[in-house]
Amino acid sequence: MRRPVARKLSVLAVSAAVVSVGAAAPPAERSTPAKTPVAVGYGGAVASVDPDASAAGIEVLKKGGNAVDAAVATAAALGVTEPYSSGIGGGGYFVYYDAKSRTVHTIDGRETAPLTAGSDLFLENGKPLAFADAVSSGLSVGTPGTPATWATALGKWGSRSLGSVLKPAERIARDGFVVDDTFRSQTASNETRFRYFPDTAKLFLPGGQLPVVGSTFKNPDLARTYAELARKGVGTLYHGDLGDDIVDTVNKPPVDPASGWNARPGDLTEKDLAAYRAKLQKPTKTSYRGLGVYSIAPSSSGGTTVGEALNILENTDLSKASDVQYLHRFIEASRVAFADRGRWVGDPAFEDVPTKELLSQRYADSRACLIKDDAVLTSPVAPGDPRHPADCSSGGTAAPTTYEGENTTHLTAADKWGNVVSYTLTIEQTGGSGITVPGRGFILNNELTDFSFAPANPAVHDPNLPGPGKRPRSSIAPTIVLDQHGRPVVAVGSPGGATIITTVLQVLTGFLDRGLPLVDAIAAPRASQRNAAQTELEPGLYNGGLRARLEAIGHVFRLNPEIGAATGVQRLPGGKWLAAAETVRRGGGSAQVVYPAP
Ligand code: GLU
Repeated sequence: MRRPVARKLSVLAVSAAVVSVGAAAPPAERSTPAKTPVAVGYGGAVASVDPDASAAGIEVLKKGGNAVDAAVATAAALGVTEPYSSGIGGGGYFVYYDAKSRTVHTIDGRETAPLTAGSDLFLENGKPLAFADAVSSGLSVGTPGTPATWATALGKWGSRSLGSVLKPAERIARDGFVVDDTFRSQTASNETRFRYFPDTAKLFLPGGQLPVVGSTFKNPDLARTYAELARKGVGTLYHGDLGDDIVDTVNKPPVDPASGWNARPGDLTEKDLAAYRAKLQKPTKTSYRGLGVYSIAPSSSGGTTVGEALNILENTDLSKASDVQYLHRFIEASRVAFADRGRWVGDPAFEDVPTKELLSQRYADSRACLIKDDAVLTSPVAPGDPRHPADCSSGGTAAPTTYEGENTTHLTAADKWGNVVSYTLTIEQTGGSGITVPGRGFILNNELTDFSFAPANPAVHDPNLPGPGKRPRSSIAPTIVLDQHGRPVVAVGSPGGATIITTVLQVLTGFLDRGLPLVDAIAAPRASQRNAAQTELEPGLYNGGLRARLEAIGHVFRLNPEIGAATGVQRLPGGKWLAAAETVRRGGGSAQVVYPAP
C-alpha cells in the first residue's frame, strides 16, 4: 500500500491550524475575512498569504475584472498588509496564462542596480561588506519594478484601470487591517533596525511599541501614495515627485544619528528611475510527463532550475517510488540543478545564459546519470556544460550557493474566462532595507543583496556580480502547468529566497506525481537541498521516521523551522476552481473563490 508520508503529516498540520485559528484574540475595530486554506467554486479564485488581500482580488473579480486585474489588486493589498514582504518599493515576476490564445506570458519586474554600480558595489577597502551592513543601507536599494509591473500587466492584459484596482488596497491602508501574530512577530524581529530609521519606527512601531495583535493598523501615508498612483499613474514614481522622494531617501538614508548605525548611501538617480523597464519576455517551458510547465526565465533562476530538476526527475517514475526514494531523488535532482544554476544563471542582458540548453532533456539526462539510488552526491557538485552535454561529467569547478534572504510573498489568481496569474513579489529581506520613504508609507527593497558580493568561487566566472543597470539573480518561480491541449492544470509559487525553487519543485511533484490534493502538497513538510553538504528539513520530516532511512543512504540534515509559504490554484472541470494556501506556515494563508460551490 502506497501512502506518502507527506500526506499523513499534512493532516497533522491541518489540525494544528484549526487550533491556532480558534485561539481567542482581543476585540478589533475591524474584522478580517475568515481565513481558510482551501476554497472551491466558480467565478474565479484568489490565493494569497492574507485574507484581506485575497478578498481585494475577489472584490475585483466580482465586479467583472479579470485575473490580471485581481492579481494587481491583491498585490497592492499585500503591500498594505504584508509591507515587510512586498510593496511598491520592490520588484517581482508576473506569469500570465491567456485563456483565449492558450499561451503563457511573463513580466520581469526585477529591481535593477544603479547605472553607476560596478562589480565592487558591496566591497569596502577591497573586502565584501557584512551582509547586515549591506541590507539596512541605501546601497542595496534597486530601482523598484513593482509599479511598472502593474502598469504593464494591466496595459497588456487587464480590463480595469490602475486607479480602479488600487481602490481596495487604498481603503485597507486608510481604514486599517487587523494585526495578526505574523505581523507582530515580523515587526519584532526587525525592531532594532527599524528604530535606526525614525520614519520606519513612527509607522511600524506606533507609539514606540510593537503593534498589538488584534488591534487595527492604519497606514494613511500609503493610502495617499496609492491615491497619487491612481491619479497620476506610475510615472509619478519613474519620472515624478514620488521618484524624487525615493532618490533623496536612498542617497541620504534618514537615519537617527543617535542610533550609531552607519546607513551607507546608495547612488540611485532620477536617470535610473527613468530608464527602468518591466520586461515582457518568453516563459521557460519544460515538458514534464506530457504536461507543459511554464515559469519565469532569467534574470530569475526559478524557471531554469525547477525545469532542469523536473527533467532530471522524469527519469524516475515518482508515482511508484517509495517515500524514501522519492525524497532521495528530489533532493539529489535539486542538488545537481543548483550546481548549474550557480554557474550559468545571471541577468541575460549582461551574461550569456544558456537558458534553452539548461532546459533540454538531453542535458538533464546527462546530469541525471550522476544520481544513484543508494548513494548521495558530495556537495558542492560541479556544474556541467549545458552547451556540450557529457554523460555523467563532473569535471567543472564547483561554486557554493550564495545566501539569499527568505521573505517575499506569492499570489495566484484565476477568473471565469480561464485566465490565470502566478505572481511573486518581494522587497527581499523581511522588512527590506528597513528604510521607509518619509511620508509615503512604504519600505524600500534591499534586493541588490541578491548579487554575489564577491565571486562565489574566484576560480570560476560568477554570472551574478553587480553591474550598471543589472538585475540581481532571483530564485522566484511563479509557475503555471498546462495540459496537452494548452489548458491550465495548476498554478503555484512561493516565497523563500533560494528555497523557492525546492518548494515549487516539491509542491509540483507532490501534486502531479504523488497524488496529493493541492492543499496537502502545499502543507507537506519540506526539504531543501541547494548544493550544500546538508539538506534542510522542516520539523515534520526532521522529527519523522524517514530521516534515519535517508541518513542510511548518506544524507546529512539540519533543521529549518519553516520553509516557504506557497499558494496555488487548480482548474477543475466545468469552470470550477480550487484555491489553496498554507494551513500553518506564516499563520496560514487565505484561499477564496467568487462563488463557493455548495
Ligand atoms: N530575493 C529573493 C529572490 O528574488 C526573494 C526573497 C524571497 O522570496 O523570500 O529570489
